[in-house]
Amino acid sequence: MKKKFIRAIFPGSFDPITNGHLDVINRGVKLFDELIVAVGRSPIKNPLFTPQERVEMIKELLADIPNVSVESFDGLMVKYAKRREVDVILRGLRSLTDVQYEFTLAMTNRAVAGLETIFVMTSAEYGFTSSTLIREAASLGGDVSNMIPKTVYDRLQQRLKKKKS
Ligand code: ADP
Repeated sequence: MKKKFIRAIFPGSFDPITNGHLDVINRGVKLFDELIVAVGRSPIKNPLFTPQERVEMIKELLADIPNVSVESFDGLMVKYAKRREVDVILRGLRSLTDVQYEFTLAMTNRAVAGLETIFVMTSAEYGFTSSTLIREAASLGGDVSNMIPKTVYDRLQQRLKKKKS
């Protein structure tokens, strides 16, 4: 039987992309034929980077992976996924708390668009990594260098300096 070509979407805010996100992406590209990393353009609380900057940073980090692309989208994620003829949604899980939220999200996306969600568990070392906490900790002077790639850390430092001046 011919294997079906599977295109997955990994949606998120990615403000900024973390080592945890990269872990999920690296697992995803092995599972699916094509993976779209989709940066939501809808506003989030205290954003640090514009959606365009986030896309740029992610593209730079994933430049060597052939079956991944990075895009941004507006509005309802499943509508965008349908338009891009995506077969499945990829999401990452860190803890049981994530499961509770992701469960309702996945049920809603299935009810609204008939799209299934596949979850991958992150490595234990990234179990506490979250973009929100990184933004908060970094803005208060905390060292977040082991949670994000070096290129992202450098841009984060520049951005925080600019914000202060
Ligand atoms: P959202 O605002 O949609 O939650 P995020 O950028 O925070 O967007 O997260 C996108 C996806 O990545 C979600 O599935 C989230 O659970 C997952 N994720 C975030 N941080 C990690 C991490 N450290 N390890 C594994 N998955 C993660």
